[in-house]
Amino acid sequence: MVKLTKARTFHAYLDSCHRRYSCVHCRAHLANHDDLISKSFQGSQGRAYLFNAVVNVACGPAEERLLLTGLHAVADIFCESCHTTLGWKYEQAFELSQKYKEGKFIIEVSHMIKDNGWD
Ligand SMILES: [Zn+2]
Repeated sequence: MVKLTKARTFHAYLDSCHRRYSCVHCRAHLANHDDLISKSFQGSQGRAYLFNAVVNVACGPAEERLLLTGLHAVADIFCESCHTTLGWKYEQAFELSQKYKEGKFIIEVSHMIKDNGWD
């Protein structure tokens, strides 16, 4: 349902009974707390979280990058609403120990705010 009073409409809305993360710039929902896999990642501008699934996010072209944990094929991800680059998606990992990250998403903490139901 699109609310006409809203200035922006987003492609997807997350369940309002869940704790979630939103884009700090435009408040588009980005991810459910339930989909958070790890908080121990490092982005280009500080801490970053690894998520199983995200919404309202678009992917750039994948490219190979040599990261601290080895060679990966990654694609930048950005907010579909305000087009801020949020982090990246792991398209492919070449090290066996890193395979669990394939298809998962990194969002930098500096681009997220906690929304709904957080104490
Ligand atoms: Zn945004």
